[in-house]
Amino acid sequence: MQDSIETLSGAIERLGDGFLLVVTGAGISLASGIPTFRGSDPDAVWKRDVTELGTFRYFEEDPVGSWQWYMSRFNKVLGARPNPAHDALVALERWQLERGGKYLLVTQNIDTLHRAAGARELVEVHGSADRVRCPADGCRHGAPRGSLPRPEVDLDALLEDPSIDKLPRCPECNEILRQHVLWFDELYTGHDDYQWLRVQAASGAMDLALFVGTSFAVGVTDLFVQQGLFGRVPIYSVDPGGARAPYPGIQVLAEKAEELLPAVCERLGA
Ligand SMILES: [Zn+2]
Repeated sequence: MQDSIETLSGAIERLGDGFLLVVTGAGISLASGIPTFRGSDPDAVWKRDVTELGTFRYFEEDPVGSWQWYMSRFNKVLGARPNPAHDALVALERWQLERGGKYLLVTQNIDTLHRAAGARELVEVHGSADRVRCPADGCRHGAPRGSLPRPEVDLDALLEDPSIDKLPRCPECNEILRQHVLWFDELYTGHDDYQWLRVQAASGAMDLALFVGTSFAVGVTDLFVQQGLFGRVPIYSVDPGGARAPYPGIQVLAEKAEELLPAVCERLGA
């Protein structure tokens, strides 16, 4: 643990007023009680279900099933609280900006815990569980910019009686509303809230990349890894499972984020 603290705090300190880029995945929210999508779950059926159920195609085929699946997942997500790893990243952001550096946090998580902790330079690149949107083209509550706060949608009727006529509908055009998340069969450019242009710009401008709790299984990690290796940018991955980085050139710190990151902040005086 002490070696990891020295390694990471040293690398961040040497960055000076450079650009610190942080990418987080499901692993950072485990300590908040949210199970990972893929993680170490050995059940192949579950994996298949995720990539089949988390699609626009499934929403179109069976909107009731899609809504039921998300309501069961989101109940746990929306009741969760940030853990010390989320808090430490907020302290790190403040510290890096205060010394004149740049900072951006790109999260794959839809659990909104970084926002709840107070992160400001934040991209929720896979959307967020606390909003819904209209799937209709051109509707002001849908892409490219529109969405609605989830609490404004009455889900009680659907919970009581999961049927097609109880699904929440768009107040503007009456289409069946959808989750405000990036599905497996959709593109990062599908909604402005995913801030894909900002993410791409960051991948070319970063001076250090820090991955926390990512499985390296989704596209956005690939972008940063490739850009980082190409630009000879130092890349660190905090992962208690250790040694799961798929590329040489990524230095894996086999620690729990909720322990390592607060210790790094303390070492930096952040
Ligand atoms: Zn609409």
